This record gives sequence, structure tokens and C-alpha cells, in this order.
Amino acid sequence: MGAIEEFEKVIAKRHQYAQDWKQKNGGKVVGWLCTYVPEEIIYAAGMLPVRILGSHETQDVTDAYISSIYCPFCRDALAQGLKGRYSYLDGIVHARSCVHIRNTFVNWERHVPIDFAYLMFMPAHVQSPRSKPFLTKEYGDFKEALEKWSGKVISRNDLVRAIVTYNTNRRLMKQIYELRKRDNPPITGAEAMKMVIASQLMDKAEHNKLLGQFIKELYGRDIGRETSARLMLIGSEMDDIEFVNLVEELGATFVIDEHCSGTRYFWDEILPEDDPLAAIAARYIDRIPCPPKDWPERRRLPFILELARAYNVQGVLLYQQKFCDPHEFDIPTLKQMFTENNIPTLVLEFDATIPWGQFRTRIEAFLETLTFNLV
Ligand code: SF4
Repeated sequence: MGAIEEFEKVIAKRHQYAQDWKQKNGGKVVGWLCTYVPEEIIYAAGMLPVRILGSHETQDVTDAYISSIYCPFCRDALAQGLKGRYSYLDGIVHARSCVHIRNTFVNWERHVPIDFAYLMFMPAHVQSPRSKPFLTKEYGDFKEALEKWSGKVISRNDLVRAIVTYNTNRRLMKQIYELRKRDNPPITGAEAMKMVIASQLMDKAEHNKLLGQFIKELYGRDIGRETSARLMLIGSEMDDIEFVNLVEELGATFVIDEHCSGTRYFWDEILPEDDPLAAIAARYIDRIPCPPKDWPERRRLPFILELARAYNVQGVLLYQQKFCDPHEFDIPTLKQMFTENNIPTLVLEFDATIPWGQFRTRIEAFLETLTFNLV
């Protein structure tokens, strides 16, 4: 079976994968809600960190728990817990990012049976010099809580091994992303997204093996399709592989992205330091930030522009989860930045399910403007 088929299998059967892992390894499975959670510490404890994702179905089970004007992703994720689809989870961890997803955590803790629930602080002002020592201390508390819960000491070596495994994962995925700079990339945007989402669901050591196999498969691979318009996908949480597939079927290829199941998840490595917790903290402080943590200095914007140029992007899809204020606030600035750089943009608002009929017409029109260079 090829690496892509393996990624697809894990995504389709993610609950089964986690339960099989638990049975095989005898460890605990811990769900996380935001890419600011330091998975490395959970992994160092011999546990499997898995991202909690929605199922993109219409649902009404969250209405009594969470405001209907909170983003569809945080409601969809909570729905999975309320429906018992994550009943095998031993723990859930969240790092403060936005208020919407924090409500998912709070309601999960209160209304879904779970052995261990941990909410950690994550500085909003990551650019403050006090952020790193603060977060290092916070990670120390988190490590202690995991030790107390599991009855196992997390040693320095455990942390270093986890850092090496996670850094390898990041490096291999970056190597594969590098191939997307080619005139005819050997991988589609949907395939790249499957690779990253599988990474969020799998044991990283196992995912690393698959990435090694994938790199070999990609050498000389001909995917038998035209690249056509080179697109970039930018936004917040994104795991809608079907949407990416449908856009690519219209005659386009996503060659790069900036969202939570893409570069923002894995781009930045952990740099060596004497104290592994301080090294992990530095990574989460210095990583390409989410919009709410990108003030006063805007680091996200030049990073995005640099990527767009490096990957020779012709057009940008800016998507926003409905009611997601943090990302919505950035859209006018992003649009302006791309307009000044002659890169056309299209803004789409996502719900748990998407109105493909309406989207399709708009995307086709957008792709036509790119083809005829009308913008
Ligand atoms: S999509 Fe926006 S509102 Fe929803 S969890 Fe992410 S940042 Fe928060």
C-alpha cells in the first residue's frame, strides 16, 4: 500500500487507529484541541496525542452547551465528544488560544466522561520577553500533572527523544513541501493535507516511517494531471480534504498553505537548549503565530508573503470559519497585502458543511480571472 493510501486509512479510521495503538502499547490516548498544545510533553510520557476533529455533519447536540455564534469547528469538535465518538480518550488537553475552542474544552470537561482534563495557559502576548520563562514554568507544571496522573516520571531523555521524533516529522514534511515548488509538483494539495492530518492523528514515529516511504515514492512520480492555477490556502482550522479535492478538480493545484493542518502546524522546529522544556517553550513562543498572538509586531504577514513568492502562487483562497473573529480581523490586511503584490484573492466563509454549489461558481469565476490574467 502506498503512503497516501496509508494516510487515508488512518484518517478514515482514526478512532480505530487510536484504540489499536492503545491496545498494542498499553499507553493512554490524549486528545488535543489547538496546535498550541505541546504534544512533545505528552508523547514523552509514553502517551499518544491525537487531534480532536469534527465530522462535517450537521448536528444539533451542542446547542444546549455552546453558543450557536461560536465557530462551526469548535461546535463540531464538541459534538464528537457528546456523541461518544471519543469515548476511548483517557485525557484532553487544551492551551489557551481563542475563547471559542476553550468553550469546547470546558464543556467537554463538564459533560463528557474523561479521566484527565488539563487547561494550560498560553501567553497571548508571545512577543513579550516574559513569555518564554512563563511558558517554561507552565510546561513544568503540566509535566508534573502528567506524571502524577500516569504514575510515571518523564525523564530528560524522554523529552529529548520526543523532541527528536517531532523535529524529524517536521523536517520530513518540509522536505515534501519543498517538492511543491516545482512547476509540476508530484503531490496535490489534497494529498499534502492528508499527510499533515495523518501526522496529527498518528504516533509520530510511525508517521516518520511512512514519510520516508512517501519521499521515495515521490521521486519521479508523475501524477498525470495539469498543475494549472497555483493556489495558496490560508485560514484557521482546516481539515476539509473534500473541499480541497473539489477545487483541484476544477483545474488548480494548492501548492502551499498557511493554516492549522499545514505549515502553521509543523513549520517551526525545536532548537536545542540545555533545558528541554525551555526549548519546547521557545518553539511555541517563536512559531508562526495565530492572528490573536501576532501583535504588535506582525510576523505572520511577511511569512505568508514569502511563502506565496517561494511557491510561485498565482491566487489565494482565504477561508474563514464562520464567526471566527481572530482570523476575520486579519482578512482585510491579507487582502491588501496580496493586492499590493498583484496576487488575486477570494474569500470564502466555511461552515461544518459547505455550500459547494455556490462555492463552485465563485471559484470557477476566480480561476478564470487567473487564467486570463484579468486581475
Ligand atoms: S477557527 Fe477561529 S474561532 Fe474557531 S477555534 Fe480556530 S481560531 Fe477559534
